[in-house]
Amino acid sequence: MIQLPVQLAAAQPGWTVRADVIVVGSGIAGLATALHLRRSGLTVLVVTKAQVNEGSTRWAQGGIAAALAEDDSPAEHLEDTLEAGVGLCDEEAVRALVTEGPAAVRGLISLGARFDTEPDGEIALTREGGHHRDRIAHAGGDATGAEISRAMVEAIAQDPGIELVENALALDLITDVTGAAQGITLHVMGTGQRDGVGAALAPAVVLATGGFGQVFRQTTNPYVSTGDGVALAMRAGADVADLEFVQFHPTVMWLGPFAQGQQPLVSEAVRGEGAYLIDGDGARFMVDEHPMADLAPRDVVAKSIMRRMRQTQTDHVWLDARKLGADTWVRRFPTILESCRSRGIDPVTDLIPVSPAQHYVSGGVLTDLFGRTSIPGLYACGEVACTGVHGANRLASNSLLEGLVFAGRIGSMISAKLGVVREPILPSHQDQRLLPHQVRRRVQKTMDRHVGVLRSADSLELAATELNSLATTELGRPITEDWETTNIATIAAALTRHASLREETRGSHWREDFPERDDALWQVRLVSNLNVDGTLSTRTVPRFGVTYADEGRS
Ligand SMILES: Cc1cc2nc3c(=O)[nH]c(=O)nc-3n(C[C@H](O)[C@H](O)[C@H](O)COP(=O)(O)OP(=O)(O)OC[C@H]3O[C@@H](n4cnc5c(N)ncnc54)[C@H](O)[C@@H]3O)c2cc1C
Repeated sequence: MIQLPVQLAAAQPGWTVRADVIVVGSGIAGLATALHLRRSGLTVLVVTKAQVNEGSTRWAQGGIAAALAEDDSPAEHLEDTLEAGVGLCDEEAVRALVTEGPAAVRGLISLGARFDTEPDGEIALTREGGHHRDRIAHAGGDATGAEISRAMVEAIAQDPGIELVENALALDLITDVTGAAQGITLHVMGTGQRDGVGAALAPAVVLATGGFGQVFRQTTNPYVSTGDGVALAMRAGADVADLEFVQFHPTVMWLGPFAQGQQPLVSEAVRGEGAYLIDGDGARFMVDEHPMADLAPRDVVAKSIMRRMRQTQTDHVWLDARKLGADTWVRRFPTILESCRSRGIDPVTDLIPVSPAQHYVSGGVLTDLFGRTSIPGLYACGEVACTGVHGANRLASNSLLEGLVFAGRIGSMISAKLGVVREPILPSHQDQRLLPHQVRRRVQKTMDRHVGVLRSADSLELAATELNSLATTELGRPITEDWETTNIATIAAALTRHASLREETRGSHWREDFPERDDALWQVRLVSNLNVDGTLSTRTVPRFGVTYADEGRS
């Protein structure tokens, strides 16, 4: 087993800043949390590692799911979410999501987000895979995330109680003698007074750092999605769960075998408007695979594509969206249309080559219904968190909603019970070792090849052997990519462990050697902790009823 660093090597903090609450990340989860916290007058420091709008949020195309239509209800949204989660959702978390969802989306509209509307002024709703009702609200056709991000960034800029620090990379958690969170160490690039390694102190820290798509070579996630929050929480000893449930989006534009990094997504909503998948012979293979055909849940479609690619020995299939016509393409999917055309494909007349690629992680830092983690004072919100709403597979467009709803819950919890400010234990000189950025591609290739859509004991062992051969090294002046690569490798090791332990196929976790779902043994979650000696411990826990107390806090 690779010896994983339990602290990120960095210089001693050269400066300190304080606030009531620190929020790490400026996607929907982070900014919504900051805005909620302001309702009770708390001061908030938002730190984000690149520009404020970098992150998955601004790339979200399809929309945000909520039971807003008259013929819909939270109960039906709950049912669809549980079905997609294949028996592993925490039903109470899902109930919170779907019942608080409609008001949360209306709250976004009050904040200034402009959603697309019908001619009568009602919010326009569409359908995506796994939903039995039209309940996806969208903006700018297929630019939902960009519009949400715009509205939120404008709102925080107008609030003097929220300070935003860009180009600030969170490194590790700072705790007090009781083990409770008291802040983070971070590395800030080029802002004069606060430059280099510093300490941001607060009795409540909210991780909102998004997903870890960059653990894989091909992903729809942007370059900032390196899983820093999950790795930071692991180093602090927090419980992390469900890491094996990585969602591979079925329709990512196929740009050739050597493409790497962020790949262009062709939203499920395109299939919602009538597009369908065909193989090289023009056959509509999804019709025989599932009653919902091309709109089956994502794992079903991704697996069917992989099977068809194998049978036909090709590396992609095709999406036929020609029947949508030029008008629908321009009105509903201007961003995807532009993305296709810029690569020489006109979807009005051409087929789009697609194949599955990493898209979303259901697992992450284990939280209870109020975003609390196993470390007092440390909260997690959005894709970094594992609230239990997604189970073994996320229902389309539930993730923006999760960030929004749980931000409200965390905001209320911290406002009611802000922790005690205690003397922080600041890191002294660190001589810990890091994984240098040069090994990143090796890790990503290994994960794509052996821990992707198709997994088996053999492939997972190959991955573990490759990861175990990585060696940390003493880096005098680490750069951002070294810290990120260490985070990526930390998550890769834990994910591979989870994937090899779960000997069944469920949701987005597909074991070729255990092709059946096994409720008798596996209707449980896998939870891991990084030990102080850099090894991992993993155990099973029930899928519901996570509660973390804030013992001894005011
Ligand atoms: C192409 C694409 C399309 C999608 N479409 C949809 C959709 O239609 N509907 C839907 O519901 N979901 C969709 N998703 C998923 C959804 O966008 C994300 O799950 C959601 O936006 C996550 O929000 P977040 O706030 O948790 O994270 P993000 O929006 O990813 O934000 C994370 C933030 O943390 C910062 N950060 C990361 N590490 C550090 C660090 N060490 N220090 C400081 N800051 C850090 C980042 O810079 C960023 O600001 C899509 C995702 C992608 C990639």
